[in-house]
Amino acid sequence: MAKILVVEDNEDILNLVKIILEVNNHDVLTASDGHEAIKLMENKPDLVLLDIMMPGMSGWDVLDIIRSRDKWKNTPVIALTALAQKKDIETGVKKHVDGYIVKPFEKKELLNIINKVLGEHPNK
Ligand SMILES: [Mg+2]
Repeated sequence: MAKILVVEDNEDILNLVKIILEVNNHDVLTASDGHEAIKLMENKPDLVLLDIMMPGMSGWDVLDIIRSRDKWKNTPVIALTALAQKKDIETGVKKHVDGYIVKPFEKKELLNIINKVLGEHPNK
């Protein structure tokens, strides 16, 4: 079980991800924009699922803030994106994202990547 912060501006996707994670015994925090996400980082989640395309503050903006604070910089982040474009993968590599989920995704795919990334951060 992990404490997972899910950041997604699409309410349907946010609720879907929340249900999938809760059914799998995770403790879920949800944010529908970047500002709310930064506030919820104070709860020290073990993992962040971060939508990239959001109005106002993008997921990349949120990631920059997470990586710039000592207390948060080692938190694993999985980018949630509809854009499987090469440009986004390159940006993610540069910004040290820990994984990708491309929308639309299968439940199994989501859980697999979460387990993989949590497994790579055993002290989290
Ligand atoms: Mg979005």
